[in-house]
Amino acid sequence: MTVTTRFAPSPTGRLHVGNIRTALHNWMLAKQAGGRFLLRIDDTDAARSREEFVEIIRYDLAWLRIEPDGEERQSARLEIYEAAFDALREAGRIYPAFESAQELELKRKVALGRGLPPIYDRAALSLSDEEIAEKKAGGEAPHWRFKLDHGERIEWDDGVRGKQAFDAAQLSDPVIRRADGSWLYMLPSAVDDLDMGITDVLRGEDHVSNTAVQIQMFTALIAARYSSQQMPRFAHEALLVGREGKLSKRLGSLGCDAFRERGIEPEAILALLARLGTSQPVEPIVDRSALIETFDLATFGRAPAKFDDAELDRLNAAIVHQLDYAEVAGRLPDGMDEAGWHAIRPNLTTVGEASDWWGLVTGPVDTPAFEDDDRAYLAEAKATLNTLEWSPEIWRDLTAALKERTGRKGKPLFLPLRRALTGRDHGPDMGELLPLIGQERAVRRLDRAAA
Ligand code: GLU
Repeated sequence: MTVTTRFAPSPTGRLHVGNIRTALHNWMLAKQAGGRFLLRIDDTDAARSREEFVEIIRYDLAWLRIEPDGEERQSARLEIYEAAFDALREAGRIYPAFESAQELELKRKVALGRGLPPIYDRAALSLSDEEIAEKKAGGEAPHWRFKLDHGERIEWDDGVRGKQAFDAAQLSDPVIRRADGSWLYMLPSAVDDLDMGITDVLRGEDHVSNTAVQIQMFTALIAARYSSQQMPRFAHEALLVGREGKLSKRLGSLGCDAFRERGIEPEAILALLARLGTSQPVEPIVDRSALIETFDLATFGRAPAKFDDAELDRLNAAIVHQLDYAEVAGRLPDGMDEAGWHAIRPNLTTVGEASDWWGLVTGPVDTPAFEDDDRAYLAEAKATLNTLEWSPEIWRDLTAALKERTGRKGKPLFLPLRRALTGRDHGPDMGELLPLIGQERAVRRLDRAAA
């Protein structure tokens, strides 16, 4: 069976770094096996879902180049959920309940007060047909619960957490549908996973107890409707937390827009999120296929993965230093060619900084003030430059000639030249920079510094 994974965001907001990580891992899991990765928009909640977020989600995935092989939308599949609902109801696995939120809360408190787990008491199951009809006639609309098989011990072999077991009797029958007919997440998700041939469900560990419940839904759905389908494998990864060790508000709102603004490359995000929380080292890997090849759920740890902005910045710089001209050409300042990119690239932490450094080539540059002896030295440099044949090796030739003529070496030889030619004490390799500055500008800058 073709490995098929899905990323299933609810379009109620932008993707944050935790969602991006889940999307990435699902994409890598599928790509590694030559399989399919689906984007499933979980938009059954019409009141909170917004089209604008659907578009932003697509845009962000495209920017990250985590391209889905297909897209599905839950809002277009309501009839299918209805049919699945009918089939499960027919099979005696769905029942109506009428308790209000306040009543349920009271039951919960009473149970907790008695030192019992707050499991739904199934009072609605003992309503007779007449009682149900009466309530409906009186204008009460039921919500709907899925009836768990309390006799079962639910077990699965989790791709990250290993053997998992739940006693079904310790779980509440989940509400799957609201009184207004709208769907909660549980049932539509299980229906879709079967319908779309999802082989692997990989998601955050906040879904572990949902999986226990959904396993019984899968079994019931397969028996009632999907005899040709199989239950997917499950894996739950530890959540992503901030450096301070908790799921911070900041992390929950940190997304692609902020990364783009900060000049973070998609490749840096991928390199970090692919390996964070695993036993594999986080490295500035630009080649996605290398990340995909080494992706391995068995290397995922159980402790929360710690996201650190400073680590992302470091990784970004290391990634920028490896990017080819062709990959960045469209984002570089006018006139900056491949040689310019190569000269300046090692000094960058973001591609955006290139225009700042490119200004050293195109000018104007601020000429710092020099001591008398340096001014004389720079006048000598100008004169020497005029006698040399301009070539790609001009920096080497110039400094060699000046060393011989003036006896200077080391810092006194190089630094006044760098400062006169670029206006700064540090920067790109002068050997690469001077040919880009060109003869005319170089002579003018030396002249001005010597004046
Ligand atoms: N829409 C659900 C969520 O965002 C999907 C969970 C899942 O992957 O099954 O939590």
